Amino acid sequence: MTDSPPISLSDVSYFYGKGALKKQILFGVGTDVRAGEIIILTGPSGSGKTTLLTLIGALRSAQEGSVKVLGQELNNAKERALIKIRRQIGYIFQSHNLLDSLTISQNVQMAMRFSKAKGGNTRKQIQDVLERVGLGEHMNKYPSALSGGQKQRAGIARALVNKPSIVLADEPTASLDKQSGRDVVDLIQELAREDGTAVVLVTHDNRILDVADRILHLEDGHMKSLTEAVSEDTSRMLNLLSKHDPSSASYLASFAFALARVAFADNEVTEEERIAMQRILRDVAHLEPAEVNFIMELSMMQRLAQSQMADRTGDGLGADRTKHFVESLYEIARADGSVSPEEINEIRAITAEFGIAHPE
Ligand code: ADP
Ligand code: MG
Repeated sequence: MTDSPPISLSDVSYFYGKGALKKQILFGVGTDVRAGEIIILTGPSGSGKTTLLTLIGALRSAQEGSVKVLGQELNNAKERALIKIRRQIGYIFQSHNLLDSLTISQNVQMAMRFSKAKGGNTRKQIQDVLERVGLGEHMNKYPSALSGGQKQRAGIARALVNKPSIVLADEPTASLDKQSGRDVVDLIQELAREDGTAVVLVTHDNRILDVADRILHLEDGHMKSLTEAVSEDTSRMLNLLSKHDPSSASYLASFAFALARVAFADNEVTEEERIAMQRILRDVAHLEPAEVNFIMELSMMQRLAQSQMADRTGDGLGADRTKHFVESLYEIARADGSVSPEEINEIRAITAEFGIAHPE
C-alpha cells in the first residue's frame, strides 16, 4: 500500500432516477479519510448520508467525480474490482441483520465465507473476534437470546472478522438505548484505534460525536465541516433567542456556550452534565424544551467545532486558511473604518484560543 488515504472522495455527485425523474442527491462532495481516522457523518434525515456511505462501500457508483477506495477508483470500475474492494470493508448496519436461525458464531462464520480465507484457524478467528467484542461466553447462543446491545456487538464482530481496512457504520446506535449505544461506539473506536482502521460512522445522535476525529455534516447533499454547520445554526439560535428576549439574546448564547465549555472540560459530557445544562438553560431562558435542546446541542457542537479547529491548527490548519482566518477577523474590525486597540486585543484572544499564531 502507498501513503494514499484509504478513502478519497473528490467532487462526487450522485443522482437517483432517470429522465424526468432524475434527482440529484449529492453535490460535489469531497474529503479524504486517513487510516485510523474516525469520521462521523451527521445531517438531517434524507440529506444523503446512506447514499454517500454506499458509494464508499462500492455498493453503488457515482455518476460524477472520483471515489477512490484503497487505491482503487470505483467510478466505472469493473464488477470484479468492486467485489475485491467490498471484501476489504466491514459494514455495520442500524439493525444488526443477524440470521435468527444461526448461532452468533455461525453468523460470524457466514461473513468469512464470503470473504477470502486469510488462512489460519477459522474457529479460533471467530472465537477471538467474539471475545474482543465481549461475546466470548455467548458464541453458541442464538440472536434471540441476546440483548439489543449484544446483537449489535455481534454485528461488529461480523464486520471485523476479516480484518477490514475500512469500517462503514450506518446509524449503528439507532435501535439501542443510551448506554448500549455509548458502549457500541466506544467499542468501534477502540477497535479502530488498535487496528488502524478508517471508520466512517453515520449518526444523528449528538451524544456520540466526541468519538470522532473529524465531524462532517451533510445538508441537502452538500458537505460541510462541523464549523460551517455550527456557524449557520448559531445565527438561527441567536434569532430564536432574540425573539424571546432581545436584550439578553447574546448573553444567553454566550452563557450556553460557557456551560458547554465547562461540561467538555474533561473531554466527556456525562448524562448528568447534560441534564444539569438543560435545567439551567430552561430556568434562565424560559424556553420550550425543544428550544432548550436545540441551544444545548448547538453549544455542544460549537465546543466540538472549536476544539477540532484547534486540533487541526496543531498539525497545520494550513497556511492559507490561517491567513484567511486572521484576515477575516481584521476585515470585520476594519469595517467601521479603523481598527481599535480593543479590536486588536480581541483578535489576539481569538487567535490564541484557536491556537493560531497572531501575525506581528
Ligand atoms: P439519509 O441516509 O441521510 O437519510 P439517504 O441517502 O437515504 O439519506 O437519501 C437521500 C435522498 O435520496 C432522500 O431524498 C431519499 O428519498 C432519496 N433516495 C434514497 N434512496 C433512493 C432510491 N433508491 N431511489 C430514489 N431516491 C432515493
Ligand atoms: Mg440513512
